[in-house]
This record gives sequence, structure tokens and C-alpha cells, in this order.
Amino acid sequence: MRKDKVKVAIWGFGAMGSGMAKMILNKQGFEIVGVCDLYEGYIGKSIFSILKLDNPQDNDVIISNNIESILTEKKPDIVLLATDSFTKSAYPKIKTIINHKVNCISTAEEMAYPKANEPELTKEMDKLAKKNGVSILGTGVNPGMMMDLLAVCISGVMEDVKDMKISRINSLSPFGKTVMEEQGVGLTVAEFNKRLKSGNMAGHVGFKESSFMIADALGLEVDDFNQQMKPIITDIDRKSPHGFAAKGDVCGVEMSAKTKLNNKTIIDMYHPQQIEPEMVGTSTGDYIKINGTPEINLSNVPEVEGGIGTIAICVNMIPHVINAKPGLKTMIDLPVPRAIMGDVRNMLDEE
Ligand code: NAD
Repeated sequence: MRKDKVKVAIWGFGAMGSGMAKMILNKQGFEIVGVCDLYEGYIGKSIFSILKLDNPQDNDVIISNNIESILTEKKPDIVLLATDSFTKSAYPKIKTIINHKVNCISTAEEMAYPKANEPELTKEMDKLAKKNGVSILGTGVNPGMMMDLLAVCISGVMEDVKDMKISRINSLSPFGKTVMEEQGVGLTVAEFNKRLKSGNMAGHVGFKESSFMIADALGLEVDDFNQQMKPIITDIDRKSPHGFAAKGDVCGVEMSAKTKLNNKTIIDMYHPQQIEPEMVGTSTGDYIKINGTPEINLSNVPEVEGGIGTIAICVNMIPHVINAKPGLKTMIDLPVPRAIMGDVRNMLDEE
């Protein structure tokens, strides 16, 4: 077994990044060597005081706004990047990381299958990663698992796939302020519609990535991709850790998408997300129905909680990204994800 612990740096210490730190501190064979965030209230503070935890490590970790010094002085094996949703905005950060010859896992939704929206940047990132001998992966609960990889995996026991319907009905409550903003939580309906009309309403980012990941994995051509969104309006006041929606305002977004081949829908997606769905009796769950041979009907109730799911999959993919051949990877390129229950160093290939 490798002697040195796996050195991890975290860039973005919000809901996801801080959750990853907590998870890593409970695992064997990891060491957090640096954390970077720009939030004034964090800079200069120990992560253990922010997390309200005793320090189980030999070293303290003081939050810094200077990623360059973390990369140069602490020499991490990998950076968990949890700051962005879009490839374009994550790209300069990813470039900084890989130019220091450090592997990267990004939570940016578009990075789960970046070629769907950013084919040129995808080629560039792949080239740069290969040149520097490191790997990049985008992942998360969705995109990254519940509405794409899971369907791809289960299709492995099918002789033939005709079409599929994938639904995820979930809570937005575990997510931080970046997600609240993107989903329009707390906006009036008029503000929401204005942003939607001007193209500034993100809603769920990732349908195109998930659909193209499935289609490419199964060897299906895509003729047409189309998505729709509408606000979910609350009829009571709702408060979550990072969001608030007053009665009559927006508490989430209902999204749907259709991917077509020869004018026929082959992938149908439905994804209503809102804060505190249980307050109005909405049951959450993940559902995958695939028509074909044999027919598949997966159902997981309630949904895999988005916060834990994203935190876990990013941490659990660390050894696979370190082991991977250099380049830009997606979840359909790497070994199947699994929980790390032993020492992570046992999962690393011999150097
Ligand atoms: P958050 O708002 O709670 O945290 C983001 C953190 O990043 C903040 O602390 C912010 O100060 C910091 N930050 C932003 N820009 C920075 C920069 N340039 N340098 C240093 N720090 C910076 O958001 P979150 O809930 O933790 O989510 C993070 C991102 O991951 C979001 O864009 C979100 O949409 C995405 N996400 C994806 C999935 C998925 O399933 N693929 C799931 C959850 C979150």
C-alpha cells in the first residue's frame, strides 16, 4: 500500500465543498492539505472551526483565497472544485489546476459531459490534461448519476432499448446559495418570467449533458434536443437552510426535456425541484423506466438526497481519477463508482 496519504485540496467551501471535507475527515488514507474560498468570513479561519469539528489530522487547514500558493506549496494529488455550474466559468480554474500537474474533480453540472455544450473547450481540456499527465472528471448526483449513469448501467442487462423516461422529483434544500440563485428560489413569478425570457434563468443545468451521455454510451445518434422550464409556485412560506420563498413566490423549477431520433422521443426527462417539498406533501423519488427487452422499472423512494449524493460521488471517484490515464474523463469512461469503506490507498494502482 502507498505510504503517503492522498492529498486533497478543496476549491469552494460552500455546501458541497465543506460537505466533502467532512466526509474525507471520516475516511482512512486521505489528508486535506488546502482549502480555497473567496468568502471574507472564511479567509484566515481554520476549516475545523468552521465545521465545528475537532481536528483529526496532524496539520491544521487555514482557508486561503490564494489557490496558486495551495497548488505550489501543498502539492495536492487532486483538487475538488465546487464553485461553478458552467464549463466556461469552471474552465479557467480547471486550467490553473492542471497546469500545476494536479488532477481535478469538478461539480460543475456542464462538466459531467462537457462536449454536449462546449465541444471546443472539451478538446482543449483533454489536450491540456494529457500534456500535464493528469485527469479531469465532472460529476455529481445529477448530472453524474441519477438521471444518466444509472440508466446507462442498467441498460447493460438489456438486449434492446426502445426509449426511456427518467424522472427525479427532489428537494433543493440541501444546496447552497449558488443553486438557490440558479433555480430562482425566492423570486416573484414576474421576476422569474422576466429572467426566463431574457435567457438568464438557469434552472436545472445538465439535461443536455445527461441525454448526450446516455445517447453516446448506447451508440444512439441524436437528431433533436429540447428542454422546457416553468416555475413551481408555493402556496405557503417555505424556508430551507440557504433559501426562502414567500407564499405566492417561486420555490423551485419544473423542468422537462425530450431527446429525439428520427422524430421519435428516445429519452424523456422530468425533473421538478423545489425547497422543502415535504411541507406540501410532495413525495420525492428517482425513477427510470426503459422500454425494451427486458423492460426496466427502477424506483428509489425517497430520492437520493442531492447534497449527500454529490458530496459522496465526488469523494468516491477520487481514486479512479488518480488511477486514470491522463485526459478529460466522464462517468462512462471510469470504473463503476463505489463507496470507499476501507483505506483509500488500497484502491490506488501501484505507482
Ligand atoms: P455554494 O454557493 O454553497 O458554494 C460555492 C462556494 O464557492 C462558495 O463558498 C463561494 O464563496 C465559493 N467560490 C465561488 N467562486 C470562487 C472562486 N473563484 N474562488 C474560491 N471560491 C469561490 O454552492 P454549492 O451548493 O456548494 O454548489 C457548488 C456548485 O456545484 C454549484 O455551481 C452547483 O450548481 C454545483 N452542483 C452540482 C451538482 C451535480 O449534481 N452535478 C450537485 C450540487 C451542486
